[in-house]
Amino acid sequence: GQKEPTDLNALIDECLRLSYHGLRAQLRGFQADYALQLAENLPNIPTVSQDIGRVLLNLFNNAFYAVYEKKKQLAENQTETHFAVDFVPKVTVSSCKTETGIEIRVKDNGTGIPEALKTKVFQPFFTTKPTGEGTGLGLSLSYEIITKGHGGSLGIESSAGNGTTFIIELPFNTKPK
Ligand code: ADP
Ligand code: MG
Repeated sequence: GQKEPTDLNALIDECLRLSYHGLRAQLRGFQADYALQLAENLPNIPTVSQDIGRVLLNLFNNAFYAVYEKKKQLAENQTETHFAVDFVPKVTVSSCKTETGIEIRVKDNGTGIPEALKTKVFQPFFTTKPTGEGTGLGLSLSYEIITKGHGGSLGIESSAGNGTTFIIELPFNTKPK
């Protein structure tokens, strides 16, 4: 597709709601907190907004899945002496302007990604999800879209058990590399 000036905050907002309500419809009892921390007056930058939308949706779906998984695991492990699970699933999405472009962070307090898997998750077809729940294509496609498609970067900060943050950096001048 063609690049057109994109209001990333509006796109984030739309995709986050879509993802949350989609998962709620799919998963019985699914409940999570989500928060938006969007910087005001971000400049529009040229993107293929359909592609960036797919990236965001996948990151949000992954994040909600990770917090849902963690809640399920905690519930399964609960014992009589430790039954009060006070875990509140939470996904936080933020945007801000940097010197070179716009940064979007998708943070969750879910299952986390073990160090050894941090590079593998970007490989096509890598998934830890049961058949039918994941194709393993989301992050590899996202990586292509952000790097090759827009000249940006996609990184991970994560500690197993505590949660994950995906960081998208899009340059003001989004040219293919
Ligand atoms: P899929 O979602 O179909 O499994 P992805 O490419 O989107 O494929 O993700 C690949 C794998 O990366 C997931 O199966 C999961 O193991 C891991 N992963 C991605 N996002 C997260 C996250 N937010 N928290 C924990 N693990 C994640
Ligand atoms: Mg995915």
